[in-house]
Amino acid sequence: MQASPANSTSVPQPAPASGSRFPQRAWLWAGLALAAVLGVALYQHFGLGELLTLERLKLSRDSLISAYQANPALAILAFFGLYVVATALSIPGALILTLAGGAIFGFWVGLLIVSFASSVGALLAFLASRYLLRGWLQAKYARALAPINEGLQRDGTAYLLTLRLVPVFPFWLVNLLMGLTSITATRFYIVSQIGMLAGTAVFVNAGTRVAALESAGDVFSPAMLGSFALLGIFPLISKALVGWSQRRKVYARWPKPASFDRNLVVIGAGAGGLVSSYIAAAVKAKVSLIEGHKMGGDCLNYGCVPSKALIRSAKMAKQFQKAEAFGFKGAAASLDFASVMQRIHGVIRDIEPHDSVERYTRLGVDVVQGHARITSPWSVEITQADGRQRTLTTRNIVIATGASPFVPPIPGLQDAGFLTSDTVWKLTALPKRLLVLGGGPIGCELAQSFARLGSEVTQVEMAPRVMVREDPEVSEIVAQSLQADGVRLLTQHQAVRVEMVAGEKRLIARHGDQEVVIAFDELLCAVGRAPRVTGFGLEELGIPLTSRKTVETNAYLQTLYPNIYAVGDVAGPFQFTHTAAHQAWYAAVNALFGRFKKFKADYRVIPWATFTDPEVARVGLSETEATDQGVPFEVTRYGIDDLDRAIADGSAHGFVKVLTVPGKDKILGVTIVGEHAGDLLAEYVLAMKHGLGLNKILGTIHTYPTLAEANKYVAGEWKRAHAPKKLLQWIARYHNWERA
Ligand SMILES: Cc1cc2nc3c(=O)[nH]c(=O)nc-3n(C[C@H](O)[C@H](O)[C@H](O)COP(=O)(O)OP(=O)(O)OC[C@H]3O[C@@H](n4cnc5c(N)ncnc54)[C@H](O)[C@@H]3O)c2cc1C
Repeated sequence: MQASPANSTSVPQPAPASGSRFPQRAWLWAGLALAAVLGVALYQHFGLGELLTLERLKLSRDSLISAYQANPALAILAFFGLYVVATALSIPGALILTLAGGAIFGFWVGLLIVSFASSVGALLAFLASRYLLRGWLQAKYARALAPINEGLQRDGTAYLLTLRLVPVFPFWLVNLLMGLTSITATRFYIVSQIGMLAGTAVFVNAGTRVAALESAGDVFSPAMLGSFALLGIFPLISKALVGWSQRRKVYARWPKPASFDRNLVVIGAGAGGLVSSYIAAAVKAKVSLIEGHKMGGDCLNYGCVPSKALIRSAKMAKQFQKAEAFGFKGAAASLDFASVMQRIHGVIRDIEPHDSVERYTRLGVDVVQGHARITSPWSVEITQADGRQRTLTTRNIVIATGASPFVPPIPGLQDAGFLTSDTVWKLTALPKRLLVLGGGPIGCELAQSFARLGSEVTQVEMAPRVMVREDPEVSEIVAQSLQADGVRLLTQHQAVRVEMVAGEKRLIARHGDQEVVIAFDELLCAVGRAPRVTGFGLEELGIPLTSRKTVETNAYLQTLYPNIYAVGDVAGPFQFTHTAAHQAWYAAVNALFGRFKKFKADYRVIPWATFTDPEVARVGLSETEATDQGVPFEVTRYGIDDLDRAIADGSAHGFVKVLTVPGKDKILGVTIVGEHAGDLLAEYVLAMKHGLGLNKILGTIHTYPTLAEANKYVAGEWKRAHAPKKLLQWIARYHNWERA
């Protein structure tokens, strides 16, 4: 049993950005507090509260007008300055000052001065709130505030305009609250200036007849307040109307069928399409699933399944190499590559029934084999292998067409020929010299596997390290492991061209200002996957793409046409089987029941794994991401080299790294490197999804001896680092006293 894991640490990591700003901010706080105290003292001393009353204004009106007439420029300047200071410091009395503007300067000049002075003052209050509080607030509640920020980014102008147009929302409160959001200062100023104009005009106008006013409340009659409220909701109503008219415009050129053949047509039978159609059939919708090639899509036929089957064979090869350490002398095996490939195809065949036409037909899905093309927002044309065509009308469409390997335009590559994840499974002989282009998860998994099977593998990556999405220490471990398996890893090498010299294929790569020549027999291109977005009607319908060339969708996974959805690799932002399936639920439910309730796709807890040896698994933030986003965090680590089961298995390497909120057990992110890391991660995915902290993991029995115990030990490390030290000192004294 474990007692005291020596190789574990729990280290608080203050976010550098906020940490380094702290002294400056402390001074600012002190300065502002002093200014506020001074302000209050002056306010009290000069009885400004009494000065800024309607009575006082009425009494002083004549002398103020005389002062203005004697020196107009000075009077305007003084009034402007006073107004800005009062609003910037959120001092009560802005209403009386506005009335005074009308009383002293008359309507037009008064309106001009007050309009600008109130906007400038509001901006200063906004900036003070933003500079002093926003960074801290956004960092502390980054995740909770993310959707609010997104909403403000989208609709901020409409909301602020509403708040400004309805004068019942306290002016100073709007300034301070907006400072805490992500709205830009320029947008805030412009919208405030425009939005407050109507209210300001009413008050300034009232000021011109101040003598007749009995109280400030006289300025607004209930009818006027009602009109302002209507004016206030106008931006929101107009936004809804704009949305409605945009939708009408988008659909305008397409005749809508009187009735529909289907509730849903799904294009593509990969993970995204299979799950979408399954859900539709489960809730008794009439659904057709159109697949142009192989049921199961890339995951089953070219991706997850064959790659994991290959990895298993490669692992076996490695185990033969290590046999002696486990007590087997002279263990040796010769590779039969054809058998390896046969096994891979056998595994695909064994899994095929899960995604088959027969199974989905039994489930109630109308499966159609053929190429689908969207011909209108409500119709899909299907061309079958024999050339026959038919068209289905449908209320909704889900696009789940996936992605294909991206092949960069490297001169000479097409002529020399290359493999991709689509074609590598057709190899009949093990390549002697394999060049793997790309250091991402697919490149690393395949490079290691082929190296273990006996290929001389050179892996070329443009970036300074492999697996750039992970922390640098993770990249380093994977790089060392690849190299230990014989991969010649060339990072910071950019592929420039492919040449054929005397029958030999060569890649020329640029490294700094040098050109490096790498001879190869086969080149495997694994530099990313491009969404399948052409040739099936998106262009004709004008469905826009994002900068990453995925289909543009909103949070409900709707495209430009709200009845056309997109999921999986074609929609992004992730390219995993489980995220495609996750999105599929949202798309199907929103499509079929959206008129009652729509759901935004929830991306808060997304796990993934790379199945190199050691495996790398992650959920939530990495250290690099947390630092970049200014999210404060603590790191707790547990080294798997200390874990009983890992030692017994001969796999004592790797670590579990957990990021938590400083001083709390709330999990922000987890990275696991080691044997079965992908499986070990599940406990954290569940914990994060359901808000369970490290204390809960620590309080859960983990079977001994399992790798899963690593999860408990890391929680134990966190607990140890957060033990109540003072209390423990007292308890030690108590024990001493008991022994005395
Ligand atoms: C080598 C490799 C390893 C991978 N390993 C993993 C892993 O370990 N874990 C993981 O989560 N993910 C992995 N992936 C990624 C995973 O395969 C994809 O994320 C997943 O397949 C995406 O599913 P999808 O439904 O979006 O698209 P796809 O699975 O690509 O399915 C799209 C389908 O649409 C069909 N189609 C396209 N256009 C039309 C049309 N016009 N008409 C009719 N049919 C059409 C295609 O024929 C295809 O079958 C791996 C990928 C590769 C390449």
